[in-house]
Amino acid sequence: MNFATSPIPATEPPRDCPRCPRLVALREALRIEYPSWWNAPVNAFGDPDAWLGIIGLAPGKHGANRTGRPFTGDASGPLLFDTLAGFGLASGTYEAKPDDTLQLHGTIIINAVKCLPPENKPTPEETRTCRPFLEGQAAALPNARVFVALGQIAHQSAVKILGGRLPKARFAHLAEHRMPDGRILIDSYHCSRYNQNTGRLTPEMFAAVFARALELKP
Ligand code: SF4
Repeated sequence: MNFATSPIPATEPPRDCPRCPRLVALREALRIEYPSWWNAPVNAFGDPDAWLGIIGLAPGKHGANRTGRPFTGDASGPLLFDTLAGFGLASGTYEAKPDDTLQLHGTIIINAVKCLPPENKPTPEETRTCRPFLEGQAAALPNARVFVALGQIAHQSAVKILGGRLPKARFAHLAEHRMPDGRILIDSYHCSRYNQNTGRLTPEMFAAVFARALELKP
């Protein structure tokens, strides 16, 4: 598998980032079990001149942790990339592998937690520990004025790195939060397999998030 490089390489954690012992242990075990997988902090994917930043939660085991590209190779990818393509924010063909022809336009995806957490659940401490990397990435995207947070944990990290205040900015699907410097955060339910299968997030609900983001495009 050819792995993709980051569009904002100076902001990425080192491949062997040691900060979260539980995630490091999992990463090292998977490197032995699946040596052809990515098994490292997952890089951002998309356009370094993006006006829209999508903040995901963390890599999935058989998705980004395997392929090295956010939302690539697991059940969340088709809905996300189809939706982006429907709004002209993505082009090419998504083939669930990092060397397909998919490209993002005006959009970049960054995760709140860069390494695979067990059960897809980072602890609050792990989320906090990884936050400086997310903050550095948002700061390295001077044109990003609109952000979409996928799920509650991404929402909390996004509010903190964008300078907002959590008690005021409560998570709800399609909720909009204006940050002190004018950047806007829109919340969405995460496009996980569970949320799709239970109907918590329908394609129409997800499309509404990006339709609103486009209305706010600077
Ligand atoms: S989750 Fe972030 S801070 Fe923790 S080990 Fe991975 S890259 Fe480092």
